[in-house]
Amino acid sequence: MNDSALHVAVVGSGPAGFYAAAALLGSDLDIEVDLIERLPTPWGLVRLGVAPDHPNIKAVSRAFEKTAANPGFRFFGNVEVGRDVTHEELSRLYDAVLYSVGAQTDRALGIPGEELPGSWAATEFVAWYNGHPDFQHLAFDLSGERAVVIGNGNVALDVARMLALTPAELAVTDTTDAAIEAIAGAGIREILVVGRRGPVQAAWTPVEVGELGELEGADVVVDPADLELGAASEAELAAAPPTVRRNIEHLRDYAAWKPAGKPRTIRLLFLSSPVAILGDERVEGVELVRNELVDGRAVATDERQTVDAGIVFRSVGYRGVALTGLPFDERAGTIPNTGGRVEPGLYCAGWIKRGPSGVIGTNKKDATETVQLLLDDARAGLLRPRSGDSLEELLADRGVDAVLYVGWEAIDASERAAGEPHGRPRVKLATWEELLAAARATSKAK
Ligand code: FAD
Ligand code: NAP
Repeated sequence: MNDSALHVAVVGSGPAGFYAAAALLGSDLDIEVDLIERLPTPWGLVRLGVAPDHPNIKAVSRAFEKTAANPGFRFFGNVEVGRDVTHEELSRLYDAVLYSVGAQTDRALGIPGEELPGSWAATEFVAWYNGHPDFQHLAFDLSGERAVVIGNGNVALDVARMLALTPAELAVTDTTDAAIEAIAGAGIREILVVGRRGPVQAAWTPVEVGELGELEGADVVVDPADLELGAASEAELAAAPPTVRRNIEHLRDYAAWKPAGKPRTIRLLFLSSPVAILGDERVEGVELVRNELVDGRAVATDERQTVDAGIVFRSVGYRGVALTGLPFDERAGTIPNTGGRVEPGLYCAGWIKRGPSGVIGTNKKDATETVQLLLDDARAGLLRPRSGDSLEELLADRGVDAVLYVGWEAIDASERAAGEPHGRPRVKLATWEELLAAARATSKAK
């Protein structure tokens, strides 16, 4: 490490963390960045959120690899802030600390039956099929004929699409083998995606809506009556961005299609909210109420229906969690900040800064804005100079076995090598033991 450089700790190695590191290392100040990550693997939701059948999107990691190659960059994986090192310690060891820890849990619906076995947060399912090591013990019973997905965002569409992929479509992805087997063997015939508002108000985007029509193994069904929008939604559509109009064009196509008799069906249901998840021992159905739109809001009517369901995925948004020693806005699930500055020396970026919305690229602008403020503070002499030992010394004293970038490269190489003969981008190591063993194997060899 260069003693005269400014030392910045970035916590969380998802897109926001990597974009922040890139902006810091690309600035005209002399800066070194330590990127601290609780998992042995970097990239956050790019590895563990983005759907495995979207390899081109996951390829954004190549830009992150370029950042990691900068001589001023170091990666400390398997180090959790709050468990292995405290915020107070980091603020002593570094000139500035920037949190980019994302949104680690889900928003609740707050309805009866939400906790029944068989009622899952989409966050759990997504983490499981993507090989997140904290979620591999979960057992999703996909034997029922209907899965219900609550929510009209892109994550809901990811979940619906993953449930509908054929074994051949899954075989070329880096979905975990356990998930491929479970989805291939599922008894699911219908995936019902339930939106509380109408098609114009849905949060999904056209590429994702369009993909539903290209699935080998699933028909997509939309009731033409749901596309009789009513005056208010027609007016909203006329003023909406082109993406919303393209969504509606896709839906109009689907409404006109005759099902081709594919093994599974994705059915889109609008203006409906779950009021209870039903079942004695486990999920057996969902009670839905029909909504009407009042000033753009979903307002319940008296009309109710019950649908049978073997499993429910609640996909109504992610949620940030508080870190000990840091301020936290409970309602928003974010660290309170202005443009990413919490106070001079303490910053945040990404989902923990602005809440759980926006695509990967959104975090670039967001992280750059934060870094600009950090640089302003550095230039104005507002950062309290670091004191004390280094992070390595502190971790060594505590017996924390950090996975350095070379350890991640070993994991990466081992996964890619396992995928190559099968035409898969990688076969993920998905348990802590496997990941740490692969990281250690090469660290020792070097
Ligand atoms: P994250 O990516 O969540 O990264 C946070 C990191 O912080 C994680 O690695 C986490 O392990 C680490 N961390 C958390 N707590 C600690 C701690 N205490 N100590 C150390 N490390 C910690 N966008 C697209 O453009 N295209 C897509 O196809 C797409 N698909 C998506 C699919 C899903 C299921 C989801 C949820 C999002 C998707 N997005 C997609 C959005 C995109 O993934 C997010 O915008 C982006 O990942 C947010 O970046 P982040 O860095 O704030 O958080
Ligand atoms: P989101 O886009 O915010 O969507 C959440 C959905 O849940 C909305 O339809 C919302 O409806 C609904 N909802 C919220 N509370 C509800 C309730 N109590 N009852 C019923 N429905 C409720 O969140 P997300 O799907 O988790 O996605 C997060 C971000 O990641 C988004 O920006 C998304 O675009 C991005 N992402 C992108 C991709 C991609 O580019 N392929 C893939 C996945 C995720 P209301 O609108 O009525 O509130």
